[in-house]
Amino acid sequence: MPKRWKFNRLWPTVLILIGLTVGCQIKAPQARVGSLRAAEAPSVMSFTVSMEEPASNRFRVIFQYEGVREKFVELKMPAWSPGYYRILNFARNVDGFKAKDESSHLLNWEKIADDTWKIKMDGVRTLRVSYEVAASGKGVAESQLNEKGAYISPTSVFMFVAGKLDHHIRVSVKPHQGFSRISTALEPVIGEENTFYADNFDELYDCPIYVGNHEVLTFTVGQVPYELAMQEPGDFNKDEIISALKRMIVSATGIVGEIPYKRYVFMMMGEGMGGLEHRNSMAVFTRIPRPGDHKDYQRWLSFITHEFFHLYNIKAIRPIALGPFDYERENRTSMLWFSEGGTVYYEYIIMKRAGFMSRDEVLSTFSRIIDKVEHSPGRKLQSAALASYNTWTEPFFGSEKTISYYDIGAILTMLLDLKIRHETDNNKTLDDVMRVLYQRFYKERRRGFTDEEFRGVCEEVEGTDLSEFFNYVYTSEPIDYDKYLGYAGLKLEIKEREGNRRSYTIKLQEEFDGRQLRLLNSWL
Ligand SMILES: [Zn+2]
Repeated sequence: MPKRWKFNRLWPTVLILIGLTVGCQIKAPQARVGSLRAAEAPSVMSFTVSMEEPASNRFRVIFQYEGVREKFVELKMPAWSPGYYRILNFARNVDGFKAKDESSHLLNWEKIADDTWKIKMDGVRTLRVSYEVAASGKGVAESQLNEKGAYISPTSVFMFVAGKLDHHIRVSVKPHQGFSRISTALEPVIGEENTFYADNFDELYDCPIYVGNHEVLTFTVGQVPYELAMQEPGDFNKDEIISALKRMIVSATGIVGEIPYKRYVFMMMGEGMGGLEHRNSMAVFTRIPRPGDHKDYQRWLSFITHEFFHLYNIKAIRPIALGPFDYERENRTSMLWFSEGGTVYYEYIIMKRAGFMSRDEVLSTFSRIIDKVEHSPGRKLQSAALASYNTWTEPFFGSEKTISYYDIGAILTMLLDLKIRHETDNNKTLDDVMRVLYQRFYKERRRGFTDEEFRGVCEEVEGTDLSEFFNYVYTSEPIDYDKYLGYAGLKLEIKEREGNRRSYTIKLQEEFDGRQLRLLNSWL
């Protein structure tokens, strides 16, 4: 999810153009027979999305389902986009729905829910549905089509067949004649222009498609290819930006130590609102800042780092409610304080390790977040866990009655890391927790973890009972900052200011011992 909403600076240009069709070689997609009888041909699902009139802000979508065996097919439009915790009812953007057979005879259908179209098949084996989608969204969860290009947020464009989310899909994109490039993390189908393949709907819904006249840079880190797609990139130093992204990638991927994607795509689509994380891509509305503006550049790079690290923390290392998803309703979890707030914490840790921030800059950032938390009117009214759970109906970043799980979560994650480092005499860190969670749940059990399982792994790595820490997660109890900061020879200086304001600043203690110093030096 977006940590911040807006970045709007120009930076200098670059660019290696690559052709419309992505060039990497992949296996030709094989239809899966599964448990079907040998005599039955495997079913095929495919979408074609076209954009004849960008100014109309409407996509035209054709869905073809061959090999239908059901009496009725229920087509559903998702209600939300994973990572953006709001019911957006994408079905409201759909109109012109038609269902036909292979000979273009109309099939009967009825709407049985706001998001569900039920089509009577009666022995017809090929279903061909067409519909239009209004695409004038403003944020990353909704699609956009205009003269500059097309951003396809897949949950807002592609319907799914009820009960068939695990079916493989092909997607053909027909760009407007004025658009020359397509960027997406979907695998291209060899030999078929602008056609892509997804193993299932979860994969399709996790791969946005960006179409336009953007610039594209490619580079590799290790053997892994990366693509950077930018709308109106301005005039920036190509080598510098690629070098920065490479350093960030090395630092971020080093935490877990395994790269779970074959290719990664950065989509930077100019000014707008926010960013959304995916397993092997990010879609962000941002511009690369001007050269020489250190703070602006740091803010931009930490934003990119945040969205990138989500490929681990929330996509792979994830609460059990966040995948596989139920696309029709809220998927609630009490753990966004860690999935989002923990990602905020790690974005600064990664920036520090990659050499983009100094220790003082990281500490002053954490001071600023503590300051924000302690001045939040909702701090005493809502726990980090409850803020996570309630996010579907509350402002993402806190309000008069709520607390931002980004802010409180970042600080709680910092305390957890300090506690683990202290209790293990600096032999273990939060990175060890991340590696265990990744290995045990993502790799071995192929699922997310419960709140209790998360706590269990933290206590297993840290070696003691973490009741006090988790009390801070599930209640609004005041936090004993000095106790945790003290592990690293630090303290929280609180100064009274005019009005009811105080200022909170993390400082070095006047006296500290070798153990504290070792912890501080290995931490930051
Ligand atoms: Zn996020």
